[in-house]
Amino acid sequence: MQLKIEGSKPKFRLHLEKVDQDLSIPRKIFARIRKIALSAPKLHFPTLGRKVSLHLEQVSLERRRKMFIKPRTTPEIILKLQALHRRLDPTHKKQPLILQDLLKRKRGYKGEQNLDKYLEYLPQKDYLFLCDLNLIADHRAFQIDTLVISPYLIIIIESKNFFGTLFFDQHTKQMLRTYKGETEAFPDPITQTHRQRIQLLHWFQENKIRPAPIETLVSIGDPSTILQTNPGQHEIFKKILQAEQIPERIQQLEQESKDKILTPYMLQRISECILAQLQPPDTTDILEKYNIPSTELLQGVRCPSCAHIPIHRTHGNWYCPRCHQQKQKAHQQTIRDHLHLTASLSNKQCRKLLQINSINTTTRLLNAMELSTKGIGKAKTYHLST
Ligand SMILES: [Zn+2]
Repeated sequence: MQLKIEGSKPKFRLHLEKVDQDLSIPRKIFARIRKIALSAPKLHFPTLGRKVSLHLEQVSLERRRKMFIKPRTTPEIILKLQALHRRLDPTHKKQPLILQDLLKRKRGYKGEQNLDKYLEYLPQKDYLFLCDLNLIADHRAFQIDTLVISPYLIIIIESKNFFGTLFFDQHTKQMLRTYKGETEAFPDPITQTHRQRIQLLHWFQENKIRPAPIETLVSIGDPSTILQTNPGQHEIFKKILQAEQIPERIQQLEQESKDKILTPYMLQRISECILAQLQPPDTTDILEKYNIPSTELLQGVRCPSCAHIPIHRTHGNWYCPRCHQQKQKAHQQTIRDHLHLTASLSNKQCRKLLQINSINTTTRLLNAMELSTKGIGKAKTYHLST
């Protein structure tokens, strides 16, 4: 199917050309096209929106065969923490805390990726997976790590990735983690998933979707984690399992359900409705969270090889005075990092950041990146595309 684009945004055109070329497009790009198509009418591209929707019908036939209709991507908070770590002086007093939080988040993400790896063992045609969902029900935001939709039931999976021993105290409803001789208490993940279940049921109700049975599971991402509970309470390990055991447990739950409740049409409708109502993944102002004034962020392009700041622009290239390497696109990481931290950048601010004087060069460098813009003339600002 050929698609003629009449919109004026080159960014949209670029992505859509990719769809035309090849239906097996990367998942991340598909998700973005879908989002653009859904929001296009609001962006005053009615013609574009309609044509894209038509085209998406073709694409979704292909994608339907795939299981991860909303695949997992690097969480926004990890990108923000990495940016903060790179744009602060290495000796900054908050660096140890930032690195510690970054490692914790990365460990959590790795646990979720572990689960995805095992979920792929399930028969492809029977399941849909949606990862990292941010939804609103009953005027309250809620988040689901992984949602599995099968013809028999819907399963919410909460991922936990901890080293050491986890003791699930069924009397106090706490999860106690012991690692290197120290014990720390966390909220009970089963209670957490029950809350998510109630919120998802509300969401179904608000969206006029007949609720399917919803089960909840907790996935432990690290296979070396030891799981314990009070005597006689081992039934909870039907709900809390190592990631590797999750696919088998899903199949058991299906067998216990007996009846197919969701038709292929309903499976599709639920997943499309969820995709259409996703909220922005993470709106945390990271500078505010760590109480760091923006004046403490370093100015200057960072060397991608040795992390030196600033490196210098020479003859259309970036030259590092420390490691003597030349990198043509070194500024892009610096600009993206800055946008993760401050959300917007004007030409003037960008010149200060890159330490260059030319308005035209800065405009050209910014335009060559896939950024969205707001305003015109001197008031124009650049933002990360969502
Ligand atoms: Zn260098």
